[in-house]
Amino acid sequence: MLQYDMLLLRFGEIAIKGKNRPRFEKAALSHVKSLLRSFPNVQVVKDFGRIYVVLNGEPSSQVIDRLKNVFGITSISPVKMVDTNLESILSAATTFIQSLALEKETTFKVSARRVWKLFPYSSHEMNRLVSGPILNTCQHLKVDVHNPDVDLRVEIREKATYLYCEVIPAAGGFPLGTNGKAMLLLSGGIDSPVAGWSAMRRGLEIECIHFHSYPFTSKKAEEKVIELAKILSRYGGQIKLHLVPFTDIQTALAGTGQESLIITLMRRAMLRIATILADHNEALALVTGDSLGQVASQTLSSMNVIGRATDIPLLRPLVMSDKNEIIQLAQTIGTYDLSILPYEDCCTLFVPKSPSTNPNLGIVEKIEAGVPGLEDMIEKAVTGTETLVIKPDDEVRRKQDEDMIQDKWF
Ligand code: ATP
Ligand code: MG
Repeated sequence: MLQYDMLLLRFGEIAIKGKNRPRFEKAALSHVKSLLRSFPNVQVVKDFGRIYVVLNGEPSSQVIDRLKNVFGITSISPVKMVDTNLESILSAATTFIQSLALEKETTFKVSARRVWKLFPYSSHEMNRLVSGPILNTCQHLKVDVHNPDVDLRVEIREKATYLYCEVIPAAGGFPLGTNGKAMLLLSGGIDSPVAGWSAMRRGLEIECIHFHSYPFTSKKAEEKVIELAKILSRYGGQIKLHLVPFTDIQTALAGTGQESLIITLMRRAMLRIATILADHNEALALVTGDSLGQVASQTLSSMNVIGRATDIPLLRPLVMSDKNEIIQLAQTIGTYDLSILPYEDCCTLFVPKSPSTNPNLGIVEKIEAGVPGLEDMIEKAVTGTETLVIKPDDEVRRKQDEDMIQDKWF
């Protein structure tokens, strides 16, 4: 196995264009640094339109796994570095190809790029010069300059020459936080964590809000949400989780006896609380895991009546996704196994037999106006909100030892 010296991280097209570039690059750079804290030997270097991670002996595959989570980075290539002189380049290129243990008839091409113009051979000449010894040593390989299986890049720079051929897809999207902040309504289900990841991938910083009906809902259900937020924090670095006491409101809404509208009423109350929390935390939007038509509360008609409870943008990243697609994403980002644990959510406690799929806004508003003290209860839920700071697993433990500012640990 070849020992790689460095990783080359590329930005997406959009991120590197225009006047936003310095801001995007800075955000991606700090995200890279924050995800690599547990690899003390790596050095992170920014270059024009790229980031280099010098490994200094750290294991490339583990570092790559971390870096695949950096939003705004479209691909990663592990790089072998070699002295910039012809002899070293030719011998290292041959060893590089040999180390790939390619099958018979595999096609390759060499794509040399002379970045350092004082190097005595042109890019074109280098393509030929590098291919020669490879073909001599690996006689089972063939050259195909149009559609090769392996494209060996040789970047000739003054200080070193970079050899690489692998291009590993990364998260893409926009660097974290470059599109502002939103509050994610995080339930214990499959959808909302995926919605949160999608929002982060679009460059949104997120804070999570979870409504619990303790003691109707168990501590286990809360722990599950904390674990979900922890997984999201692997992508977002540090994430806040606001735990909102929802029992009184839920009980009062259930007291209206409007069984078929109870979910609509609860969702509206959640949005109103979330809007206030967004205001307090300088977030400009709410994010939910709604998917059109998935359940009664997610028909267009329900979404309309529920959505009117807030006056800030309500983002629903999964609105047009199929459940299968959402499940697949949940598996990829690592939230699925947790999401399917069977702990009750505050809403599942009051699931009506026949929830309304076509609620009427006027009627819903009238019912709300008839709930005594609803406004006060919403205020009280906001003031009773407990905020946790969630960090990826490894750091949680360390910080806990240091007895840090955390309100509460699990
Ligand atoms: P999920 O899988 O995200 O729970 P779902 O398909 O089960 O979604 P609902 O339970 O109707 O759908 O919830 C719709 C959305 O409302 C959720 O995606 C989430 O954003 C929000 N939500 C529901 N319950 C809660 C809760 N207890 N705390 C915070 N947000 C919630
Ligand atoms: Mg749910």
